[in-house]
Amino acid sequence: MLNNLKYIDVAVDLPVYSTFTYIAPENLSDGSLTGKRVAVPFGQRKATGYVLCESEYSSEYDNKEIKSIFDVLDETPLFPPSMVPFFKWISDYYIFPLGTVIKTALPGGLNSCEIAKFSITPAGKETLDENRISSLEKRVLSLLENSPASVKKLCTKLNENVSGALLVSMEKRGWVAREKEIKSGKTKARLESYICLSGCRMPDGKLSLSRKKVIDCLESYGELSFKRLKEQIPSAAKAVKALEEKGYLVSTKRPVYRDPFGEEIEPDSAPVPTHEQENVISNVLNFLGKGFSPFLLNGVTGSGKTEVYMKLASAAIDRGYSVLVLVPEIALISQIEKRFRARFGECVAILHSGLSSGEKFDQWNRITDGRISITIGARSAVFAPLSNIGLIVVDEEHDSSYKQEGGLRYNARDLAVVRAKLENCIVLLGSATPSLQSHQNVLSKKFSGLTLTKRVENRMMPEVSIVDLKDNRDNRGVRRFFSQELIDGIKNTLVRKEQVLLFLNRRGFAGFPVCSVCGEAVKCKNCDISLTLHKAENSYKCHYCGYTKTAASNCSKCGSSAIQLLGLGTEKVEAAVKSLFPKARVARMDADTTIRKGSVLNILKDLNEHNIDILIGTQMVVKGHDYPNITLVGIICADLSLAFPDFRACERTFQLLAQVAGRAGRGDLKGRVILQTYNPDHFTILAAKKQDFKSFYQKEILFRKDLDYPPFSKMIMIRLSGKDKKKTHECAIALGKCCNELKAENKSFQKSVIVLGPVEASVTKIAGRYRWQILLKGHSFNPIQQFARKIIFEKAKKICGKDTSIFIDVDPYFMM
Ligand code: ADP
Ligand code: ZN
Ligand code: ZN
Repeated sequence: MLNNLKYIDVAVDLPVYSTFTYIAPENLSDGSLTGKRVAVPFGQRKATGYVLCESEYSSEYDNKEIKSIFDVLDETPLFPPSMVPFFKWISDYYIFPLGTVIKTALPGGLNSCEIAKFSITPAGKETLDENRISSLEKRVLSLLENSPASVKKLCTKLNENVSGALLVSMEKRGWVAREKEIKSGKTKARLESYICLSGCRMPDGKLSLSRKKVIDCLESYGELSFKRLKEQIPSAAKAVKALEEKGYLVSTKRPVYRDPFGEEIEPDSAPVPTHEQENVISNVLNFLGKGFSPFLLNGVTGSGKTEVYMKLASAAIDRGYSVLVLVPEIALISQIEKRFRARFGECVAILHSGLSSGEKFDQWNRITDGRISITIGARSAVFAPLSNIGLIVVDEEHDSSYKQEGGLRYNARDLAVVRAKLENCIVLLGSATPSLQSHQNVLSKKFSGLTLTKRVENRMMPEVSIVDLKDNRDNRGVRRFFSQELIDGIKNTLVRKEQVLLFLNRRGFAGFPVCSVCGEAVKCKNCDISLTLHKAENSYKCHYCGYTKTAASNCSKCGSSAIQLLGLGTEKVEAAVKSLFPKARVARMDADTTIRKGSVLNILKDLNEHNIDILIGTQMVVKGHDYPNITLVGIICADLSLAFPDFRACERTFQLLAQVAGRAGRGDLKGRVILQTYNPDHFTILAAKKQDFKSFYQKEILFRKDLDYPPFSKMIMIRLSGKDKKKTHECAIALGKCCNELKAENKSFQKSVIVLGPVEASVTKIAGRYRWQILLKGHSFNPIQQFARKIIFEKAKKICGKDTSIFIDVDPYFMM
């Protein structure tokens, strides 16, 4: 008799790993429920869950007690059914509860009913008088009589849970009306009139002068925006109106997009691809619509990768597919977004962290509705609710911002490949400096390799010279960070009225404040990390937790006031540049100068308009922007990241240096790079000089192989942290003991899992929490994953109390 009920599979938003079956009563099971949220009973409480699928009655349900859901919370699904296997894969691989995976995937505050406002209708008012309705409905209507409200507001005002579904049902009965209110914002398109000739025959000889001018103008330019037309003919307004009324002109309103500088993004047309580009494009297109095909495109900076992405995207949408483009996280809308907008206009959705929740909601809906074809976004856009994907692009695939730290610790680059596999589509990873991981996948034939070896239009690669900082002492023996070569380079560039970029990967004034009497470093009291002097504020700062201490402090060990500064930071470089080149206009871009909203924009604007001669910056300046007039890039000290206690230190340094060098000479002018270093013979520096990924790769891969690091092994990090030093330590030791016992019990683990640690993390303390880690390493993933599962599911709870938190980091990226 229960045969026609709907059974649904639900992932609850709680830290549990299995899914649960519920019954959706008939009055709640309108339409498909998959992808919607439901309120369900869970043990003694009420929980939110996500509907994964619907099923018919099956006899296996007979022996189970299956509860009914309380409510359906969404009017339309938040994700398409095709994403369910993707979520399940993620939950399994990253050992993370499925409900929480889905919650992470959906942007926060995304709830159509919470954002939509409801108002009472005349029918609703009548009903209210008739007194035939439930008490909650009555209270809702009474409230709406005063003013329209969102679900969220209703909940707070009534101090009761008013569900979206209740309002939807009230809407269906005609009692309330929905007014969608989306906060307007910068991504909302502005409309502008475009004018063109209608094609009607003009009357001869009777035109006024201004009307004639308008018609001539449109005849020669074709379609023009009204704004443009007025620029040409200031008196056009009246003439246009009259001509339009008579039917000689047609005007249409179209959205106009602006770049962050407020400039209109002009529609562009695709250039003819170069031979190299053509090869890559046709190679990839052969596989469009033919199942899962992963590619790695290794193309030097400025070789036209973005153009390749756009050509492929265009072909995919012509064939009815949707396209997902992932870009690294940067402070500002990137060049690539702007270029896609210029080429594809309205059918592009952009998801990034700068959007308000209203804007995100709007973009998300446009994607679920299938109204857009291309979605561009940073890391979290890998969860965009697209269906029928034909192509996924991951630009700058080596970029570390694809790795999420905290919560669900996923890698969006890897997930892009997984999603492509599940969607049976093409995935194209692109970079001038591919990750070792992806390159290894080409060598092992998991990915197909593609290359672009030349810059377009034969623009030359910048010429890189290396300066040995060891030889560079001034007469007092103090190492100077401005070699004569760099000083001359800057001088000449300024004389030519071109721009200079100086790069140093450390902000603040100097590297390490150290006591000159006892040698003690000035460290953060919350983190085991040296503080950095910030001269402008006259204080020492921790770059991990923000702890600040006055620069007048004495040594904490011996009390001496003789604190000496070793190394340097961007702030010190800025001071030195200002004294060396007093007439130059100098600006600095790093995390300290860009705290205020809009400050990145202002710096870039000044750079664009050539109000800046010399820009000093950290890696923040490397990503996402093109500076055509920058012809000299000075790398002040290339060694800062080389000595990090991390097996990827060389890889990161190479990528960073090659990318910085690639900033030079992006326009028509030839670029030059001066790379200063203490290690001029280091293979990383030499490879970066030539932007030669292959030669870097050949050396680095030997080292990885010798030490059995990824890509030759897989890793899972078990991280522990706690406020109490002793308890955290004890907990780490106990967990380590568990790992060893588990290995001893199980023969197959003995062969397949290496347990390293427990050890204190390289940064032993961050923000007041002590940190320990256990690294699991193995040649294949399954055993270490099973091992980690056993530890987490069976052992960790017993060992770690409330005081110590434990989490899993699969494929860890930051080893410190
Ligand atoms: P990458 O993404 O590899 O750094 P881009 O796609 O940004 O390279 O291309 C570099 C520059 O060359 C851009 O200004 C782009 O507009 C231009 N460009 C790319 N392909 C072509 C082409 N086929 N013909 C002319 N210009 C091109
Ligand atoms: Zn001291
Ligand atoms: Zn700190």
